[in-house]
Amino acid sequence: MESKFCILTETEDLKTLISSTEDSLQIERTKTLFEEIRASINNNDEEDRSFWRPVLPWGGVYTIRAGRKAISCTPLYVKISLKNTCTIDGFLMILYVILRDNQSFPREVGIFLGRQFVEHFLYLMDSYDYTTVKMLWIWDRMSKRQYRSVIHHAALEIDLFGNEHENFTKNLETMMSTMQESLCTNWSCPARFQEFIQKTININPPHELPPRDPIQSAVDEFFCPKIILCKELGCNGLREFSQRVFCHGPPPFVILNMQLWKSEELSYVPYHLALSQHRYSLEGATLFNKEEHHYSAAFQIDGYWMHYDGLRSDNLILLNKPPELLLLSSLVYIRASDK
Ligand SMILES: [Zn+2]
Repeated sequence: MESKFCILTETEDLKTLISSTEDSLQIERTKTLFEEIRASINNNDEEDRSFWRPVLPWGGVYTIRAGRKAISCTPLYVKISLKNTCTIDGFLMILYVILRDNQSFPREVGIFLGRQFVEHFLYLMDSYDYTTVKMLWIWDRMSKRQYRSVIHHAALEIDLFGNEHENFTKNLETMMSTMQESLCTNWSCPARFQEFIQKTININPPHELPPRDPIQSAVDEFFCPKIILCKELGCNGLREFSQRVFCHGPPPFVILNMQLWKSEELSYVPYHLALSQHRYSLEGATLFNKEEHHYSAAFQIDGYWMHYDGLRSDNLILLNKPPELLLLSSLVYIRASDK
């Protein structure tokens, strides 16, 4: 006798999810989500720029039919409800826009996240399947300790409350990894040669505002060679750090973790940025509302800036002025083409 309550393995579930959405996608849509957004913003008629369609709304409820193996189990339907998804929603939106707006990026990002993941991700976003795309991220990219989940009767509740850099940025594998070597001047240092690899780009605000662009200065500081006192126990040598380099060449896009910056330090965000001698340009940002512990995102398509907020009834609006009372959580830059 099989157990009465049947929970599928995550890979099984994921496969079931993908195939069942492919089967049940009956609503005929002529345009992908990206084409739809682009058509709306480029519409000259101000009245007709309708972003009425709910785009990637907060949370999500999904009723999945258990796979063939589970047919004899009860219940046949398992509901999954998602909570506090804003820690991934804004980045999913930005990732989608970046991948659809830059022809070679899906292939490049696929090297790190897997070709199949990228294909599924684009397919689900293109076809407005917002809950499934979140499930894809949670099961394919996140580790279990990054979220809380409980089972209530026949429903699985997944709560993504937390920090968006933990839930999204850290799960981009080694795409943004940088490496810095260091050597201590003291010959008897217990660990003379060291190699530091960092998966994310956390840039610290300057101690005092530099005369030039503070963000470019902070990025330069992150990549530049430096000499500091060696921290090895009993060593009084100097540790010389080499220039920091990207482990796998300049990534198609970078996410700068800006959560330590105060808003007065960010009066100016540069459009162009040089990272380790490669040119990048501003594509988007994620924003944080401290009182509500809520994230939203801004990004640009065809020169128009848009603001996405999964909790708002109009999720996607054109941005005419900077959103107020929000702190910057991240800045997203894409690699400039070599042309
Ligand atoms: Zn040392």
